[in-house]
Amino acid sequence: MPKTRRSVDAPQALSPNLTYLPYLTHPPGLAGFLHQAPFVASMPPGGRVFNIQRFAVHDGPGLRTTVFLKGCPASCPWCHNPESQSPYPELIRSPERCVECGSCVEVCPEGLCPDGMDPERCAGCFECVEACPTGARRMVGEWVTVDDALADVESDRVFYETSAGGVTFSGGEPLSQPRFLQSLLQESRSRGLSTCVDTCGFAPRRTLLGIAPLVDLFLYDLKTMDEERHLAYTGMALSPILGNLAALAAVHDNIWIRIPIVPGFTDDEAALERAAEMLAGMRGVRRVSLLPYHRQGSAKFARLGREYLLPDVMPPGADRMEALAEIFRRRGLDTHIGGEA
Ligand code: SF4
Ligand code: SF4
Repeated sequence: MPKTRRSVDAPQALSPNLTYLPYLTHPPGLAGFLHQAPFVASMPPGGRVFNIQRFAVHDGPGLRTTVFLKGCPASCPWCHNPESQSPYPELIRSPERCVECGSCVEVCPEGLCPDGMDPERCAGCFECVEACPTGARRMVGEWVTVDDALADVESDRVFYETSAGGVTFSGGEPLSQPRFLQSLLQESRSRGLSTCVDTCGFAPRRTLLGIAPLVDLFLYDLKTMDEERHLAYTGMALSPILGNLAALAAVHDNIWIRIPIVPGFTDDEAALERAAEMLAGMRGVRRVSLLPYHRQGSAKFARLGREYLLPDVMPPGADRMEALAEIFRRRGLDTHIGGEA
């Protein structure tokens, strides 16, 4: 019987018979679909976005606007944007904004308002969102057109020109909405915007290589070189990601690798040595960034009504990060700690 993943084993406790049990965010009910129906014939082409962040400095060079597309094939327990994972619109709560007016209680068909939050029971009708006067209940995951998304991006064009910045498409996994991503990239190029795509690399190869000519910079995320752990922690097989990276690095000459360093999960030195050895031989790889784990996502898991599976993991210290960076620097790779360009 399928069940929701409820805990993550420490690496030393890994069983050879791993079974990946993804977090199952169920699709919204009919009312939820109707709320933001992308299939209505009159709507122009677009996709689902959960955030557009201006003045981003961790998503490529210069000042950038980052457009976050919703939906991801991975469900990493350390994710700092867990609202990105489901492709569907989701309800998120901000209890500190609640003034206990009771409006949501009157409309919720499941009796979940105002305090309850159960993704398994929520019908996804978003009636409570409509009813709430303070924004204590919000829907994440808006359907937007290409023009809508790029209108926000265009408003900061002057900053891109003075800082060598541009637009970054991230997620979630932007390649999980391939047509939307391609349209965004084509339109960005036609407007003279520098483009960057932040990807986990888990996508059909022809899709990845198909967008490559439209991308000035790839941020390519690697979690771990350990196949078994990769599958256990992310739900994705590692080999297609490595195969795609090799294929991309053969045709694209500006790829920055990003590796999250999560103590006990992705900081295995032998696996990082293998990563460094592989990356040093790839023509298109220009830099490696080691991203220290942080706990900023834990509060978001609670607001989404989900359990945070890494309650005891602490961020790595500066000395530890330097020691791991040295593994890559020894092989001549331009290696940075943190995501800032
Ligand atoms: S919590 Fe909100 S979105 Fe979920 S069933 Fe109740 S009213 Fe609908
Ligand atoms: S409608 Fe909003 S402010 Fe009123 S009780 Fe519900 S969550 Fe709180």
